[in-house]
Amino acid sequence: MPPPSNKAELQTILGMVNYLSKFAPNLAEITSPMRAILNKDVEFAWDEPQIMAFKKVKEVLTRSPGPILSYYDPTKDLTLQVDASKYGLGAVVLQDDKPVAYASKSLSTSEINYSQIEKEILPISDRKLEEIEKATLSDPQFDISKSVILEGWPQSRSECPTQILEFWNHRDELSVNSSIIFKRYVIPTSLRALMLDKIHTGHMGVEKYIRRARDVLFWPKMSSDISDMVLKCSVCLERRTSNARK
Ligand SMILES: [Zn+2]
Repeated sequence: MPPPSNKAELQTILGMVNYLSKFAPNLAEITSPMRAILNKDVEFAWDEPQIMAFKKVKEVLTRSPGPILSYYDPTKDLTLQVDASKYGLGAVVLQDDKPVAYASKSLSTSEINYSQIEKEILPISDRKLEEIEKATLSDPQFDISKSVILEGWPQSRSECPTQILEFWNHRDELSVNSSIIFKRYVIPTSLRALMLDKIHTGHMGVEKYIRRARDVLFWPKMSSDISDMVLKCSVCLERRTSNARK
């Protein structure tokens, strides 16, 4: 977790810390120098008090086992909680209601400025979370991929469980370091058609859909599914032709 370079990034980090502070109440106290520079009358300045606070926060967050992180137990069920805020996306994997891994992603300015997609895809992440989580938990493929992500991918493709081979080429995007990063929402098969439908707003054309979907969603062959969808839409195709003529 690199130090924030602006208020938006700081906000994302504090959002995650705030969520985790229910597991370690002293975090709120530790982060007070960091929160102090969020005030709109104060300029963003990452000085000694903030550096020290950030160091302490990282120490508390990453000690395993520690106040926050429990050991991952492969025999126990996992719950995924995802949180979308104005500035970022956060994900926590829980076991017995305690985090075993977490990650956050701050949104770039262009992502924050999304009008349509922000309204359509990001709220899905909020509203449909329970559905995504339910579908994910009942999907045997995801059960396997989650344990593989947590335990580490095998050395070679031939050792990869066949059920999750389609993720093999994306394995680096799904895990970073020793803890998982849910870089984007991994959408289970059962919800992909629904997500395609949500992506398809405004008949913006395939490139725009792909670019924007890629920032928040993931499934293997997502781009080609989006292209197929656009090819089947007469309005998208019509606009594309008239734009090309201009
Ligand atoms: Zn269309």
